Amino acid sequence: MSLWPTLAAAGLLLACLALCLYLRERHQRMRLSVELGNLSKRVFTNLERDELTGMLTRSGFDAALERKAVQTNNGTESFCVLYVALDNFGLLNDAFGHETGDQLLREVSRRLGKCVDDAAEGCHVTAGEFSLVLNGDTQIGTAIAKRVSLALTEAVALESIRSQLTCSIGIATYPDHGAVSKLVGNAALAMRSVKQSGGGDFCIYDPKMGVAVREKAVMLNDLRNALAKGEFELYFQPKIDAISLQVTAAEALLRWHHPVRGLIGPSVFIPLAEQYGLIGPIGHWVIEEACRKAARWRERGLRMRVAVNISGYQMREDDLVDRIESALQRNGIQPERFTAEITESVAMEDTKVTQQTFERMRSAGFHVSIDDFGTGYSSLAALRKLPAAELKIDRAFVMDLEESEDARSIARSIINLANALNLRVVAEGVETAGQRDLLVSMGCNELQGFLFAMPMPAYELEKMAIGDRQPEEMEFRRSLFSETYLGKLE
Ligand code: C2E
Ligand code: MG
Ligand code: MG
Repeated sequence: MSLWPTLAAAGLLLACLALCLYLRERHQRMRLSVELGNLSKRVFTNLERDELTGMLTRSGFDAALERKAVQTNNGTESFCVLYVALDNFGLLNDAFGHETGDQLLREVSRRLGKCVDDAAEGCHVTAGEFSLVLNGDTQIGTAIAKRVSLALTEAVALESIRSQLTCSIGIATYPDHGAVSKLVGNAALAMRSVKQSGGGDFCIYDPKMGVAVREKAVMLNDLRNALAKGEFELYFQPKIDAISLQVTAAEALLRWHHPVRGLIGPSVFIPLAEQYGLIGPIGHWVIEEACRKAARWRERGLRMRVAVNISGYQMREDDLVDRIESALQRNGIQPERFTAEITESVAMEDTKVTQQTFERMRSAGFHVSIDDFGTGYSSLAALRKLPAAELKIDRAFVMDLEESEDARSIARSIINLANALNLRVVAEGVETAGQRDLLVSMGCNELQGFLFAMPMPAYELEKMAIGDRQPEEMEFRRSLFSETYLGKLE
């Protein structure tokens, strides 16, 4: 019997088997390559687009900017970046929850998309902040900024809220306002300057904005070390009894001897210290130093009160009153000789912790003074409940006393109010004899201002109070900030 048919059948079987294996492997390879393709497409899309808003991611946006720069450098029109920040987005997010916040962001990105043409690109930078890049110069950027502002003010109706949004917009143009890598940052700087002026508007980037921010950063850095380097000094300005003309108290006003800038006033660095959490240690130093100086005056036989300005941040510290009490004890000063000056706006804060601090001040027996009175919105009921012993008429009214009937009416009303509540009234910022005479005729109890004395170092005040030298003879070191440091940080 021939073996050939059997061999042929086995060969055929083997060939079929090999073909099957080959086809199966090819199929698997193709499936893998399709899956790999899908996967990389997904990864790429995720990289380029923000899942929440569908706008470009930061890296996608940077790439879009680079592309626009190449086009512009090749001679096509310029382009600009709009940095759009929702005002109060954080508040809405906290109040209504993140889900509502997300819906809001999606709605905003939809509206932004409608304000620009197809050549524009957008990016959701961070919660409530977007950047747009569009073809055209500053004029076009301004027109689009107006359109965006209008589009966002249309009421938003979501499941849980019906709200109206406002936004602050900064505009930076390429190449006038910096390199591609700086454009978003510069537009954001312009946006911040809008926010600082109250928001709800737009403005074009100005290189000065960057200078102010850098100066602020440098000053903050210096401020962090100022206490350790012993660069602070307390100046004191006397409060004078309107009838006897005796010094009743001395208000401590902080000064910073900056190694390069010279003498800097508190209006510049106190807000910075408050904003960046440095007011705590600085405030503690002021309290301790004011008590030390008051102790020295007592040793010399002087009995005037020492007044310290207390910021809103300090009023929220749990241990503020304990600290003051222990500083007073250490220096042998009675609590009623310590005046805590708290501005009217802080005094009227209805927060539990601020009111608790007031209660503790009452129990400790401090002399509480409401500073800058007349600028806030005091309710009579709230004022009556405060443990205040003194109201200080704000300088703005004193300044206008001689020219403005309104200012005279306000000063008169504050004095009447204080009389009704059994409080003493101090007028701050008295600069002229005319202002002094008007205030005295209205029944103001105490006066404070350049007419009597500038703020001065403790030893000069000591000499003045003891009567060694009369104020007119003194060479007061001018302590006002504007004379030593020109320019104001926002
Ligand atoms: P303030 O407590 O209302 O102090 C009065 C300000 O008016 C002081 O400015 C004082 O130098 C100035 N002044 C006094 N008399 C006159 C005058 O006749 N004419 C004019 N034009 N100005 C006068 P200063 O020292 O620059 O202080 C500004 C503010 O900084 C203070 O306002 C107070 O709110 C705050 N401050 C000062 N020292 C401290 C401090 O140690 N801690 C805190 N938290 N704030 C302080
Ligand atoms: Mg004050
Ligand atoms: Mg004041």
